[in-house]
Amino acid sequence: MAAEIELLLDLVRRQSVTPDDAGCQDVLAARLQNIGFSCESMQFGEVSNLWARRGSSGPVLCFAGHTDVVPPGDNEEWDSDPFEPQDRDGMLYGRGTADMKSGLAAMVVAVERFTRNNPTFDGSIAFLITSDEEGRARDGTLKVIETLQARGEKIDWCVLGEPSSQDKLGDIVRVGRRGSLTGMLTVNGVQGHVAYPHLADNPIARFAPVLAELLSTEWDNGNEYFPPTSFQFVEIQSGIGAPNVTPATLTARFNFRYSTVWEHVELQKKTESMLDAHGLNYDLKWHLSGKPFLTEPGALIDATVAAVKDVTDIEPELSTGGGTSDGRFISPAGTDVVEVGPVNASIHKVNECVKLADVTALTEIYEQILKRLLLTK
Ligand SMILES: [Zn+2]
Repeated sequence: MAAEIELLLDLVRRQSVTPDDAGCQDVLAARLQNIGFSCESMQFGEVSNLWARRGSSGPVLCFAGHTDVVPPGDNEEWDSDPFEPQDRDGMLYGRGTADMKSGLAAMVVAVERFTRNNPTFDGSIAFLITSDEEGRARDGTLKVIETLQARGEKIDWCVLGEPSSQDKLGDIVRVGRRGSLTGMLTVNGVQGHVAYPHLADNPIARFAPVLAELLSTEWDNGNEYFPPTSFQFVEIQSGIGAPNVTPATLTARFNFRYSTVWEHVELQKKTESMLDAHGLNYDLKWHLSGKPFLTEPGALIDATVAAVKDVTDIEPELSTGGGTSDGRFISPAGTDVVEVGPVNASIHKVNECVKLADVTALTEIYEQILKRLLLTK
């Protein structure tokens, strides 16, 4: 059995539901230590993180990812045990097979092969692995980056093994992500008898025209790298449960997925000015879970695209779509970040799976990236 598949099976068997690493990082660290990496475990709260590095000079090429997985949900819904990987017709089923233990197995085996064949190379290779990507993500990659920055350790290039592909391995390489901004709104009114509306102030009626305006607003047209900003309501609640009472408050929660066209404060201002223009009495709290980031064309993107083409014969689309990822914490330190990993169709679902041949091809892609960036002489 190929080394990357063997490692993948070992990782999937470990029930590393966020933030529990379940020993995955020990397995990875032991293998990296074997090939000359110095490994540092960084524990923050209940989150385990691993920083490993081989070499002391720059440039630093870092592979990054997470060992944690989302809960399997109802085991009965799965066709096989989510933590006992099963190969059915060349597809490996199990929680974390696609998101993102294949990426981890492929990057470790690629580096093993690369360092065996090329004991000397330019710069350094590093690994940044966390067990809190799927959760609150406060004690994971963010804290490791802060620690590295405090001691002046810089990552030049980062390859994230998140499942970026859509239909076929390598069809999409992510070169950035949109920002995510959530608003939590309370519209205040005055409760009253449904038959005497003039004695009350119904927040539902107050909010309706604002809701329509928010939903029909075209925030921007995107730019060369980003799709248009999307605005979605995720929750609206009001009413006290009685048929003859109009409520005192309405609460709503909405989310922007926005591009580098905007600074988040400008989006906040525009939203607030719309609420003000309708004369609403409201409280609004904001939560910024990630700013948008973009990796400009350069050596990392060139190496990644060439590697994907070489291995898969596919010209990857460079995309900034999808949800947020830990790239949002790595990029602001001045690091170029790309995400290239397996097909994401089954992630977070029951019967999550990965094509076994893709894990082997992904290992080759990572090895090619290493060669293209670190063997320049
Ligand atoms: Zn993931």
